[in-house]
Amino acid sequence: MSVDFGLLRTLHRMHRQLADIDERMRKGPLQAKIAQNNQATFETALEQAVETSKANHMAANAKQLQLGEREAKVENMKGQLNAADSNKEFQLLKDRIAADEQANSVLADEIFEMLEKQDVIEEEVKEAKENVAKATTEAERIINKVRDELKALKEERARIEGELKDAEKKLPQDVQERYFRGAASKKEDALSETDTRTCGNCHQTLTAQIASELMMNHAIFCGGCGALFYLKEGVTGR
Ligand SMILES: [Zn+2]
Repeated sequence: MSVDFGLLRTLHRMHRQLADIDERMRKGPLQAKIAQNNQATFETALEQAVETSKANHMAANAKQLQLGEREAKVENMKGQLNAADSNKEFQLLKDRIAADEQANSVLADEIFEMLEKQDVIEEEVKEAKENVAKATTEAERIINKVRDELKALKEERARIEGELKDAEKKLPQDVQERYFRGAASKKEDALSETDTRTCGNCHQTLTAQIASELMMNHAIFCGGCGALFYLKEGVTGR
């Protein structure tokens, strides 16, 4: 049984095109997934920055409240100085006022540091928001791109598949069954280009008998991988 090697070459090219399209269809959604993960990472960072900001803000407020109360207490003690019954009581009160004023000064320094820290945190929140905005825009762009590409790839795939089906009908009846069985499981590896010396798929060495049959355009399936051979273009002998 003889076969048109040009037809087999065309079939092989179409199978390769389909495999390439399948690979691209697989990669697109992965790209989209990476972009979405990236966006989620920045969103988490923003949430954390906002939490830090809230916590620091609340802590500073609590300390300010505490300072206010303690300052009021000092003022109260100052008022009691004139009412002191003895020098000893007066001195005790003065010492307590001095100690409390010292402690309040430390607290005021702490509050000042927290307010300074708040400015730094707010900058970080601002930066995190910008990162989220950028990552969101980028993710949307990639998702749209992937969706458009998928649509185009699906159309291209359907077109090539149609052409492949038409071309396969031109195969001799006695070759079709085994070819279709191979194509169903091996896809593009159901066909193999050969220079009559080795199989282009599995690299098994071909016998002189097979080489001479190929030169007569016979349909030969590889003894190694089962692919249907076709001669490499330009090969005219062994
Ligand atoms: Zn082979």
